[in-house]
Amino acid sequence: MATDLAALITSLDLPAKVRLLTGASAFTLHPAAEIGLGELRFSDGPTGVRGLKFSGGRVVSLFPNATLLASSWDETVLHEVGVLLAEEAMAQEIHVVLGPTINLHRSALGGRLFEAYSEDPLLTGRLAAAYVRGMQDNGIAACLKHLVANESETDRNTVDSVVDEATLRELYLLPFEIAADAWSIMAAYNDVNGLPATEQHHVINEVVKDAWGYTGLVMSDWFATKSAAPAANGGLDLVMPGPSGPWGDALVADVRAGLVDESVIDDHLHRLLLLAQRVGALGDERSWPSPLPLPDSPVRREQLTRLAATGMTVLRNEGDVLPLARSARVALIGRHAVETIDMGGGSAQVNPPYQVSVATGLTEQLGARVTVVDGVDVRTRPVPARDGFLTDPLTGADGIRVTLLDAGGSVLEERFCPQSKTMVGMDDDFPGTVASARLAGRVGVTGSVELGVLGVGEWTVTAPSAQSYSLESSGNGFGEEVLTPPLQTATFTVAAGDLFSATVRLTTAMGLFGLIAFHTPRSTVDVIDDAVRAAAGADVAVVVVGLTEEQETESVDKSTLRLPGAQDALVEAVAGAARRTVVVVNAATPVLMPWLARVDAVLWAGLPGQEGGHAVAAALLGDIEPAGRLVTTFPAADAAAPAWSVTPVGGKLPYAEGTFIGYRGHFAGRAPEPAFWLGHGLGYGRWEYSDVRLVTGDALTVTATVKNVGGRTSREVVQVYLRPVEKDEPVRLVGWTSVTVAPGESAQVTVPTDPRLWRKWDTATSSWARLADGGELLVARGLGDIRAVVS
Ligand code: BGC
Repeated sequence: MATDLAALITSLDLPAKVRLLTGASAFTLHPAAEIGLGELRFSDGPTGVRGLKFSGGRVVSLFPNATLLASSWDETVLHEVGVLLAEEAMAQEIHVVLGPTINLHRSALGGRLFEAYSEDPLLTGRLAAAYVRGMQDNGIAACLKHLVANESETDRNTVDSVVDEATLRELYLLPFEIAADAWSIMAAYNDVNGLPATEQHHVINEVVKDAWGYTGLVMSDWFATKSAAPAANGGLDLVMPGPSGPWGDALVADVRAGLVDESVIDDHLHRLLLLAQRVGALGDERSWPSPLPLPDSPVRREQLTRLAATGMTVLRNEGDVLPLARSARVALIGRHAVETIDMGGGSAQVNPPYQVSVATGLTEQLGARVTVVDGVDVRTRPVPARDGFLTDPLTGADGIRVTLLDAGGSVLEERFCPQSKTMVGMDDDFPGTVASARLAGRVGVTGSVELGVLGVGEWTVTAPSAQSYSLESSGNGFGEEVLTPPLQTATFTVAAGDLFSATVRLTTAMGLFGLIAFHTPRSTVDVIDDAVRAAAGADVAVVVVGLTEEQETESVDKSTLRLPGAQDALVEAVAGAARRTVVVVNAATPVLMPWLARVDAVLWAGLPGQEGGHAVAAALLGDIEPAGRLVTTFPAADAAAPAWSVTPVGGKLPYAEGTFIGYRGHFAGRAPEPAFWLGHGLGYGRWEYSDVRLVTGDALTVTATVKNVGGRTSREVVQVYLRPVEKDEPVRLVGWTSVTVAPGESAQVTVPTDPRLWRKWDTATSSWARLADGGELLVARGLGDIRAVVS
């Protein structure tokens, strides 16, 4: 029998109700036995279910990043991801996964685009809806984030995104509307048109809850809620994290003072209880299936390799240099070949069981025919110690040992930290406040080594020799303190086995602390010389270049799309020496390729997750077709895009380009021809289109015949764009489908166009209008390769 939620709510007094509307901890909610409410547990997604700890939590599967998954342009892929993430959640008894991220790629400078699918709202919305279905069919809630106009990170807590209503509805809200079956939504950090996203009566109440009839729960982003009554009246249902926050007693007082109607509180609680009911945390507790695949199980290895390789995208392939011949002698070059970047930075990070580098993946396939050469430096900031640099003094495992102490010097907890860093103050589950911490590791190398410390506080290095550092907070809040804390290093001469230890007296309530160790870097000239020598002696050079978590991270935006360090010089030098040059781009988002015309092939590989190296090898060798199509337009130069700056002026970030972001703006001539259009991707097939027709019915539909005239079985993504008759309306993707075809064979495809893309928001009447009849439908492989026009 359905539980009567209203009766449960009435049974609680006001303080008891309000208490439930703020989290109990970093990632849990308060249980309430008297109404049968269990503890609801949340975990970050979207590229793995990290669990209840922000850092140093349990070992879980690391999935390919969102742009790589989305590059499949395949709802079955995202549905499968939703199912697998639900399994990862169930294995940890987690009820709500904080994903997918469905903000759009407005400017390629956005630091967090790696978490979001695309610059296109239809592609984003449909892929997100598939992910949500896969997850929620297993009784695990998804959470769409971040509502809304949260497309960049600069000053993210204070920036005011200024967006006109038509742009908001047609573009930035559309993915939320399409995926609104999700049982929860997260309100963003930023302001929208002068009001915090957590107080957006217009967006949350009027659009989402009233116009769309949304029955789910709207929670705040972490620490984003700025007020009691305005947020509660604005439609925010839940403040995260807890247990403290701006609601509690203040909200009770506001209700008693008549500033908030108690029915508003009841509605918030109703939504919370409905969420609990949907995920099986109200009344009889749900069952948790077991056993489920472990993060390093054969089944996960296969799934994660396939999901990553499928989205990889062939951007250029002169003379069919790809797939690589298995007999080829390969010079494999680049820092990203040996330290492949498998995930972005910030709350999407997880603690994976292993990460396969491209060097490992390709060497497993080709053995001694691969010569691996490390590349130039790619970071400006040192990272916490990598494998082999520091080991736990107690067990010898890669990582460090951290002892947390209270003000009296008593030990609160001792932890092993495999990533040589730990979070303090956010997700601790022991009584007491951390006042200081001791960190220790044994150095794994001999010679000249940079050793250092990371995190806000008063540091004393105790070995190998005494040093002290005072590291201060940037003052920019949670994001920066946790994601880019200050650090200090110095050069030491050490012998393997020496102890490196430091103590920190905390001066902030919450932060990230760690030890740093790395070799003193080699000169760029020497590195490039080695690479050139190896390239000249091989049949083909494969250079793996890319970005790192310095560019692709939460809380920081990019300032350029150039590859960091001397990577462009490395590629130029290798291309000048090698018989054939293939570049693999290990980055989630657009980078500039000044060397493009001088290399034979480019494979875009995203941030491929824990099986990254196996997936890149499979794609390069053609064992799995890299059948991806770009999900975002790659500008040809910095600023050569319709929307660029992410720096607020006077606190405001105007979305002045309106609905003309990405390919829409390029196609309208508002920015120069891009390097690659959204939808571009060659795969390993060749295609002829014929018989393209328009079928009128409930929805306008395009049919076409596609013939694979290449030599391999391949998957084609047939894309349909609408060019409206109205001059002030941008071209837009209105539908797509994909089909796998054997060489020499043909297939008939049917692509219905989505009616939501034929609408425009009429500001005068505050209602939807239909685009004028007429216009053209472009059948294309990205707008740089239009195969037919029908009208
Ligand atoms: C991010 C959210 C994330 C939350 C919890 C915030 O910094 O913006 O996307 O879910 O942290 O980790």
